[in-house]
Amino acid sequence: MNNPAEASPASSVVVKKQPALDHAPNLHESALAQFNRAADVMNLETSVRKILSEPKNEIIVNFPVKMDNGQFEIFRGFRVQHNNILGPYKGGIRYHPSVSRDEVRALAALMTYKSALTGIPFGGGKGGVRCEPWNLSKEETMRLTRRFTHALGSNIGPEYDIPAPDVGTNAQIMVWMMDTYLNSSEPLTRNRARHIVTGKTLTSGGSEGRDKATGQGITYIAQKWIQDHGLNPRELTFTVQGFGNVGSYAAILMGQLGLKLIAVDDHRGTIASSKGIDPSDLAQHVRQAGSVFGYPRADAIPKADFMKTAADILLPAALENQIHLGNAGDIRARVVIEGANGPTTPEAERILAERGIEIVPDILANSGGVVVSYFEWIQNKNYEHWDLEAVDERLKKIILRAYDWVQREAKARQCDWRTAAYIVGLARIAKAYEERGIFP
Ligand code: NAD
Repeated sequence: MNNPAEASPASSVVVKKQPALDHAPNLHESALAQFNRAADVMNLETSVRKILSEPKNEIIVNFPVKMDNGQFEIFRGFRVQHNNILGPYKGGIRYHPSVSRDEVRALAALMTYKSALTGIPFGGGKGGVRCEPWNLSKEETMRLTRRFTHALGSNIGPEYDIPAPDVGTNAQIMVWMMDTYLNSSEPLTRNRARHIVTGKTLTSGGSEGRDKATGQGITYIAQKWIQDHGLNPRELTFTVQGFGNVGSYAAILMGQLGLKLIAVDDHRGTIASSKGIDPSDLAQHVRQAGSVFGYPRADAIPKADFMKTAADILLPAALENQIHLGNAGDIRARVVIEGANGPTTPEAERILAERGIEIVPDILANSGGVVVSYFEWIQNKNYEHWDLEAVDERLKKIILRAYDWVQREAKARQCDWRTAAYIVGLARIAKAYEERGIFP
């Protein structure tokens, strides 16, 4: 069993104002800078600020996995539990070579603010395994997932810390996590614990609409933004970076609103077509080829040209720090809707603001995933199965309610939307601490 690191005593944490960064920030620095900016604007209570500046628990596990060649490799996995004042820790598991303690810490904190912003009863957590998922066979991926879940042991639990898919993981991997967890628990209560993970397949307890949930949420937000600006979706274009779960579903659903997809970038290729790219046809190609690379009905363009493509909406839906000091000046979009977590560095954000380019921040734009994960969790707890219409309708209500809260907060405080989104979430967390007090 691996021991979670004890939370730092809140009183010993010194919260310093962030100095100006003279290097490309990592996600942890960016997230902390964004948090501090909002905390300053709302004058967040000092003890709450100190508590939220550090995650509660950080678990690191090193575990062996038998590879197909018969050799064992050691992998390093992380689970960071940032905060649970509003409910169980909740957040995805990432399989990627960039996974590090800092990255997972930042993503866990973003989950705390995202859950709080949307008003669902979850806290924030995140996990990951440093690996190259594209170089693992299906069997190796299964063994890695089972060993990682076993190594986490009772550090996760259906009422305590609930993983979900993220970059490099999917519904099948969630089912393996669930199966490993259930098989390691008491037979009599096993079926009561299916909500140990969300984002599962439908047959194994997943929710209708969870696969498309993040893309669906982005689309509801995009539609509202378009309406608010008095624009006609049929006259608008968009570009997408990352054509995985988030990017592909968002592209398909935004395409259904009438918007024209004109460029896509992923880890292996960049394509563009001023005539428009059919998102469903491209998704079919990516399922077979593993990338947008080689898609025959668009032109291949240099990767560096992607961010320069003029379009009404830019949807980063890949990894963090993709919009940075080096390319923010080239972006020609009216709005950046952040499908990915942390795609815009603080320096880039300043440049976009100066250039009048709006940003719909990640914790609002991509919150559809955690909201439908919450629905899956409730359905599992109650042995229910909701139909897709019910899921979509409830998601739309919750995400547009959060949009309204952010819009109002930004207007009232004359601040940017990211700061406003943090403030809405932080105010809820601060209220919970005020009501409950800080033990002992
Ligand atoms: P995914 O693994 O399904 O897809 C990731 C995509 O990013 C792939 O198309 C990949 O080719 C692309 N990519 C990777 N490196 C790239 C690079 N250097 N340049 C361009 N493209 C690159 O992952 P996902 O689940 O779609 O997650 C994407 C982002 O959305 C992440 O930031 C994730 O944290 C965030 N997110 C995901 C969910 C969810 O429900 N899956 C929810 C909220 C936020």
